[in-house]
Amino acid sequence: MDDCIFCKIAQKELSSEVVYETNEVIAFRDVAPVAPTHILLIPKKHIQSLSQLEKNDRADLMPKMYDAIDELVKKEGLNEKGYRVVSNTGKEGGQTVNHLHFHLLGGRSMQWPPG
Ligand code: AMP
Repeated sequence: MDDCIFCKIAQKELSSEVVYETNEVIAFRDVAPVAPTHILLIPKKHIQSLSQLEKNDRADLMPKMYDAIDELVKKEGLNEKGYRVVSNTGKEGGQTVNHLHFHLLGGRSMQWPPG
């Protein structure tokens, strides 16, 4: 999608600190981290949000996203300590970039409920 910043990151038109990449998935450090580890995982294909994820994409893509999370959790040394994975979805979910993404947060104690 032309005006999507995460598509531009996936296509390397916009620079980012990439920490994981396959043909379908890319992960990069959040530009405004809210935790010592703050990584965004996205499908390279433009999907607006979790609520736009079609059934075939769910089956194909989600295991690949979880593979990425698994590898990054190990790389960042978060397995023992714990971490949080969240996908803000839609306006009331707090989504500000309309390209499906998962935040991987770790390295500090998380609070609940989130704001
Ligand atoms: P959300 O508010 O859940 O849609 O998350 C969007 C996230 O994207 C925020 O945490 C932003 O800091 C992050 N972000 C926006 N632009 C960039 C960028 N160019 N590179 C890395 N992270 C970004």
